[in-house]
Amino acid sequence: MPKLANTPTLNNYSKLPISSYRDYLKQHGLVKTVTISYNYLGNDHSITINISNTPCTYGGHRHWWHCPKCGRRVAVLYFNQSYQCRHCIGLNYQSQLQQPVDKLLKRVAVIRERLGWPQGIVNGHGGKPRGMWQKTYNRLVNEHDEIAQQIIERLI
Ligand SMILES: [Zn+2]
Repeated sequence: MPKLANTPTLNNYSKLPISSYRDYLKQHGLVKTVTISYNYLGNDHSITINISNTPCTYGGHRHWWHCPKCGRRVAVLYFNQSYQCRHCIGLNYQSQLQQPVDKLLKRVAVIRERLGWPQGIVNGHGGKPRGMWQKTYNRLVNEHDEIAQQIIERLI
């Protein structure tokens, strides 16, 4: 393997968080798949990705991608010639997220507090707090989902 000047991180790949499809999924009910169109090297492609839904304690559902390559249930897919999970890309989370579980739990608690969501990742998503910018909300939810996923993977 060639030696790289910089160790690649997941930041090198464009992200496809399930949370960016929240509104779509809300409108379309409990769909089992989402078809995504994209352009790669000048060619149009489309891929149908399986989705699963797990109910939240406070109503609503939490949605997950199933990695098109390995079938793992994940919150975020990455683009590397095609869509796949971080396990298939073979990279770990960015260093910011490579932290002990207790630190991850603390960060998640801070995010949930800011969002006004009940504590505990098992409670899934709440709504957007009044007065919060959509952009801020999306950023927090994406961070929440990535950390929550890592916590779940470590605890299982
Ligand atoms: Zn995978």
